[in-house]
Amino acid sequence: MSEQEILDIFKKSGALLTGHFLLTSGRHSNKYFQCAKVLQYSNYTELLCKMIADKFRNTEIDTVIAPAIGGLVVGQEIARQLNKRFIFAEREDKKLTLRRGFTLDENEKVLVCEDVVTTGGSVFEVIDIIKSNKAKVVGVGFIVDRSNGKVDFSFPQISALKMEVVSYQPDDCPLCREDIELVKPGSRKLK
Ligand SMILES: [Zn+2]
Repeated sequence: MSEQEILDIFKKSGALLTGHFLLTSGRHSNKYFQCAKVLQYSNYTELLCKMIADKFRNTEIDTVIAPAIGGLVVGQEIARQLNKRFIFAEREDKKLTLRRGFTLDENEKVLVCEDVVTTGGSVFEVIDIIKSNKAKVVGVGFIVDRSNGKVDFSFPQISALKMEVVSYQPDDCPLCREDIELVKPGSRKLK
């Protein structure tokens, strides 16, 4: 799929909105992205995850792992396409950990998957879990790279789409100057 085809899927599913948005950081942006909106549709999930699965099809993998909650759908689908085991890490006392009896064996080959990477914090935490179990990271796959090319996991990594994040200070926002209505994502005004 081309970048334009991927963007079209995001727009059609309402995952990518254009307008004037108040981000959780307090900054303003002309775009708002919510990956979960595209993952509502299993056909889109399948297409996007195939881009990542194909990249690792010739890599030796025992297990796919993802951090909850965002990575669950993506990790599960990539594991399904590669016909591998899927487990997830979840937060306990704010720290990602393996629960529910999930384990990793020494030297087990593990692919890390995630939906969106901005700073890469959750992925780095999962990499630490893999290393602490003496298992091996074979790669990292994620749908959207919002790090502006800054995140490097030091393993083979691939994203389906790189999405540049442009945001403004509220007191220096061109959209405010144009008097475009500011919308807080998640509010009912969003369609
Ligand atoms: Zn503004």
